[in-house]
Order: sequence, then C-alpha cells, then structure tokens
Amino acid sequence: MSDTALHTQIDADGILIMTIDVPGQSMNVITPELTQQLAAAVEQLETDEAIKGAVLTSGKKSGFMAGADLKGIGKLFEAGEDDGRSRMARLFDSVWSLNSLLRAMETCGKPVAAAVNGLALGGGLEFVLACHHRVVADDPKIKLGLPEVLVGLFPGAGGTQRLPRLMGVQPALMYLLQGKTMSPQEAVGLGVMQALAPLDDVVETARAWVLANPKGGIQPWDQKGFKFPGGVGQFNPGFVQTFIAGTAMTTKATQNNLNGPRAILSAVYEGAQLPMDTALRIESKYFTKVIADPQAGNMIRTLFVSKQAAEKGARRPHGVAKMLPKKIGMLGAGLMGSGIAMVAAQAGIEVVLLDTTQEAADKGKQYTADRLAKRRTDADKAEAILGLIHATTAYEDLKGCDLIIEAVFESREIKAEVTRKVEAVVGADTVFGSNTSTLPITGLAEAWSKPANFIGIHFFSPVEKMPLVEIIVGKQTGPEAIAKALDFVAAIRKTPIVVNDSRGFYTSRCFGTYVSEGLTLLAEGTNPALIENVGKQMGMPVGPLAVTDEVGLDLSLKVGKQTKADLGDAYVASPADAVIEKMNELGRHGRKNGKGFYVYPDDGGKKQLWPELVATVAGQLAEDQPLAEEVEERLVYRQLVEAARCFAEGVVETPQDGDLGAIFGWGFIPHSGGPFSHMDTVGIANVVAILDRLADTHGDRFTPPQLLRDMAERHETFYGQAELKQAA
Ligand code: NAD
Repeated sequence: MSDTALHTQIDADGILIMTIDVPGQSMNVITPELTQQLAAAVEQLETDEAIKGAVLTSGKKSGFMAGADLKGIGKLFEAGEDDGRSRMARLFDSVWSLNSLLRAMETCGKPVAAAVNGLALGGGLEFVLACHHRVVADDPKIKLGLPEVLVGLFPGAGGTQRLPRLMGVQPALMYLLQGKTMSPQEAVGLGVMQALAPLDDVVETARAWVLANPKGGIQPWDQKGFKFPGGVGQFNPGFVQTFIAGTAMTTKATQNNLNGPRAILSAVYEGAQLPMDTALRIESKYFTKVIADPQAGNMIRTLFVSKQAAEKGARRPHGVAKMLPKKIGMLGAGLMGSGIAMVAAQAGIEVVLLDTTQEAADKGKQYTADRLAKRRTDADKAEAILGLIHATTAYEDLKGCDLIIEAVFESREIKAEVTRKVEAVVGADTVFGSNTSTLPITGLAEAWSKPANFIGIHFFSPVEKMPLVEIIVGKQTGPEAIAKALDFVAAIRKTPIVVNDSRGFYTSRCFGTYVSEGLTLLAEGTNPALIENVGKQMGMPVGPLAVTDEVGLDLSLKVGKQTKADLGDAYVASPADAVIEKMNELGRHGRKNGKGFYVYPDDGGKKQLWPELVATVAGQLAEDQPLAEEVEERLVYRQLVEAARCFAEGVVETPQDGDLGAIFGWGFIPHSGGPFSHMDTVGIANVVAILDRLADTHGDRFTPPQLLRDMAERHETFYGQAELKQAA
C-alpha cells in the first residue's frame, strides 16, 4: 500500500491542488504521514515561484476529514526521546508541530482555498480554518464542527483561536464548549465558510477564487486594524460578561470535573487578547496539559475507541452468519416493550407487538405514535414506521420472526408461560431474548427446549433514549444466540456489552451499590443534601436519593424482597433496606406519586428534599458529619469494588465492556473512562489500600476481591491484562 496521504499536482494555471486521501482509511484522519507530506507541500508552495496558490481538498467520497485518528492519538502526540528537558516540554513540541504547520500554511504568502466536499470535524475543520478562503458543498446534511470536547479533548490545531476570530467569542464558545456541529448554510451565515457550491464544483470554485485573488494569502487577523467580531479585551463589557457567564455555566454543567472545557475557556480568554502566533502557542500549552492527563486517554478509549469497537461487533462470535433482522416478535407492550418496538420499527424492522389484550397491545403501539408526533416526524415517515408495528394478541402472528424478545411482567411464572407458548408457534430454533432486569437468564432458559437459543437482551428505560443494551449469556447460551442478539443491537444502532449471568447481571448490580451506599449514609444521619450534592459533584448524573425516587421506592422494595427470598441465608442485610421499608410504609413511592425522598410540587415546581426525611429514617442528623471527600470515597469505591467483583467472578470479561456498561448503563462518572479505567489510573495497589481502610471502618461490603490483591502484587492493570490476552 502506498503511504501517500496527500496527493499534489500543479495545474496549468500554477495552482497546487493538494488532495488528502489517507490510505487504508475510509475517512480521512490526521496521521503522521499526512502532516509530514503537508509540511513538504507547504514548503513547495512557499518557495516555488511558479506556484500561484493552492487548493486543499479531499479525495474521499466520505467527506473532507474527521480529525485526528483517535485510535492512534498517542502516536500523533508523542513526547519524543529524552533530551534532558521535561516530558511536558517535549510533549509541547509534538503538539506545537501540527499547530505551527497550519500556521506556516496560512502565512506562506500565497492564497490557499479549502474545497470542503463533505464532513469536516475536529482537526479536519481546523485544517479548513487555516485556509484563507473556504468553499463548502451545498448539502445541509454535511456536519462541520469541533466536537473534541465530547471525548475529553479540545481543539488543539488552532480551532480555539481561529473560530472566535471568524465568528466572535460568544458564539464560538458555544460551539467549542458543547461540541455542537453546524451545517454548511449555518457556517456561511456565521462567517466560518465563505461560499457554498454544488458538490461537483467545490474544487473549481475554490480554484477560481485563488486565481482571482493572488493577494488573498493573508488572514484577516494578520492584517492591520483587524477587529474581532463582537470585540475583545478586559475593558470590553460583552467579552467580560461572556466569560463570567461561560465560566459559571461550564462549572454547573461539568462540576469542574472535565479538563477540556476549562482549557477551552482559558485558551480563548488568553489567546483572543494576543497576536495569532502567541495565541496559538497558548492553545498548544493548554492542549499539552489536557493530553498529558490520564483523563483524556481514558475518555477517548471508552467513549470513542471501545464504543466503536463494540458497535462494530468486537464481541460477536466468529463463524456465525450475519443476521439482518426483518421481523421480530415483542411480547409485552408495556413501558419497555413499546420502547423496543419503536426503536426496531425506526430501524425498518417489522414488529409483532403482542400483549394479553388488544387494548394493551394498541396502547403499546400508540407509544410510538405519540413520540413521533412529539418530535414532529414527517407524516409519511411516521406512517411508514407505524405501519411496521402490528399490535396483536395472537401468538400465531409470531410465525416467521427472526428473533423474539419478551418484556412481560417481572415474574418467573408469567415469563415461563409466554416462553412455552411462543416456542409452540415458532419452534425452539428461533432465538429468544428476555429483557428481565433481575431474574437470572439460566433459570428462565429452562422454559425453552433449546437453552442454547435463549439469551438476555437487557434494555434501559427510556429505550429510545438510552444507548446501551446489556447482552446476558446464560450458562447454556450458544454463540448463535449471542451473534443474533448483537446483530439486532447493531441494526437498531445501540451500543452492546456482553456479560455473563449473575443476579442483577452487571449494570443493575453495580448501580444498586451506588444507591444503597447513599441510603446507608442517610441511615447514619448524614445530611441528605450533602449526599446528593457530592453524588452530582463527583460526576454522577443524579444523587443516589433522586435516582431512587425516579426508579420508584415501591419497585426497590419489591426487588429487595425477591432478592432476599432467592438468596435466603446468603442475603447480606443493609441499613438501606430499613430506609426503603420505612418510606414504603409511609406511602412514599418517589416521583410517581409526588412524594419520596423529595417532595414534588403539584404545580410542576422544583423538587425539594422532604423536610422530615432525616427525622423519619435516622432520628436526627449525626453530630459529626462526614467530609465531602469521605462521602465521595464511599460512593465511588462501593461501585468500584462491585465492578472488580464482577470481573473476578467472570460476569464481566473485558474492561472495555465494564467501562462502557458503567458509563452508558448507569451513568458512572464519564470523565473517569469507567470503573476499570479509574482503578488502573489510581493504581490497583492504591485501590486495594483504600478498600481495606474502608472495609475496616464500614464493613465487608468494601473488602477487595482476591483478584485485586493478586493484580496489585503483580503490578498489573485491567487494560494491561486485556492487551496481553488480545496479543496471545
Ligand atoms: P410493564 O408493566 O410496563 O409492561 C409489562 C407488559 O407485559 C404489560 O403491558 C402487560 O400487559 C404485559 N403482559 C403481562 N403478562 C403478559 C402475558 N402473559 N403475555 C403478554 N403480555 C403480558 O413493565 P415494563 O417496565 O415494561 O417491564 C417489562 C420487563 O422489562 C420486566 O421484566 C422488567 O423487569 C424489565 N425491565 C424493565 C425496565 C424498566 O425500567 N421498567 C428496565 C429494564 C428491564
């Protein structure tokens, strides 16, 4: 394979056409080869007098460029060999080299126009911004933006400096901090792009501009008298207010846990008040800091690399023919069944939606109709989606389904009954998936005569919004069922993880520990506001009490009773049980009846913690309140130790599954990259020491599994082990 990533050609008018076409990639990404070849082309452009200017475009139909190759970002920015300077100084050089290359292009003295034939994101858009004139294909579906912040980074190739100089600080911050994309039309309106052209004419339009503007090779910000749109500076009230409000809003949204947004604010604030050359160095300084912190690597690995790999079938067994599901059977048209029916129909899959009464089945179908109407879906499209859902009570209608999923009541007896009825119609060769949230799959599989074809397909509520599906492999589940379940998840464009059977599987089991530690703290007389605020400040989406109110305290009681009954003597009682029982005795079921740990005003006003909560469940506030750090440590480490136990027991087989399931399933601190990334970053020996201390003070629920001690002894990490396994 050729290693030419940038094809160059000088046309008859002396214009250098630079076409990015990175070999071996379906979409252009920044690679070391590309930057080297661009550097050579920029030098040629500057020094060859026969060249009048240049056009930068892409040779890929998939778009212009998607930015840095996140899988190889470690290679793109490397500290280089020890030359006596600090690692940070050497890393800065590497970060600066890309920034300075684009700066060299924009200051070479000759006009460079970008011909943007499709998507330009992240570093891709930063290449474009460094051109003097930007022509983009006139297609509203094209996405342009700087979404780096969403994976723990921020734009480090001039984006934080050029975007504000083009559109003004306030709108630029919105795009930079939220990672929002814009269409070509919006980009022209905002001054980010200068011209729209039909797709086939973008290069010619860009070329024509270069020919017509021989003196166009100077950016507005390098011209005398340049005025920042909207103004800048410490004495500009708009500028000052933007940063006061921007800092407050960012703090609220991120609790100051994320390095990227803070770096963006600082780089824009400082850089906007300086000449471009210094401003770019400021950006590189902050970028170096962000990339040197483990947070960026952890976030990129889980939120991008592992997520993509899971969606592309990383856990799919080999040798099973791919299934393109055309028709599925959905048993139970309640909350979950109707949500699953909706996402399947939206993916073009026919759904037989079955319930005990026609009324219930129709109500399930209505769920999709209501949501499509709320989203103002185009009438023809909505009709086509609804036309795929067949609401029925007749098992006969299930004939010909590629896959069956059940989401009937959480009762072993009812589930067994429907399972047998389905088998009588479709036969045991069909794959049957259960959406149970608590009942072990191996037991439920007994109702299907070929348990190899029985599997858990665990969705999260609300199905249409939650991205994760937890695939649960029972003791006898075979590869075909796993492959088909994963094919279905791929068809509905969700992210799968694959785990082995266990009570609560992986996600519910670990999520339960966050809630129960919060309730235990409450039972000890800890101020509930402290518990809730720490939960949110450490990066969980909601506090443990608020989330219990959302789930429903009656449901928590039911699950608790079922677990106790199933486990018998093995059940480990927790002070959280008494809290749940007491609240239920008082008829406080959570948000659903307007009273739980919080009070929900009838007029839809803001919820407040129930003023009598402490008196009711703990008697009074404890005299010695724990420090916020202590509350945080308990809430985090209780989840970490459970995740480690799941790994030790083989419930979770890979750290990637564990991290993805944690972040997308129960909202575990996203900036950590997930519990396994978090433990690796802290160091397993440190994790063990902290857990031992917590177990001494608070009990065995914190005792680390032997696996962690062994790993600590061998200086291992979860991801290090996974890499070794992969290599073997
Ligand atoms: P639900 O009560 O809203 O719906 C259950 C539906 O099943 C009802 O419409 C009911 O009429 C129907 N049903 C009952 N018996 C039936 C039978 N014999 N044949 C056909 N239909 C029958 O419950 P839900 O919240 O949708 O939960 C369904 C399943 O999904 C449960 O196993 C639950 O544990 C699991 N689950 C729920 C959630 C959640 O957040 N609600 C999340 C994950 C998994």
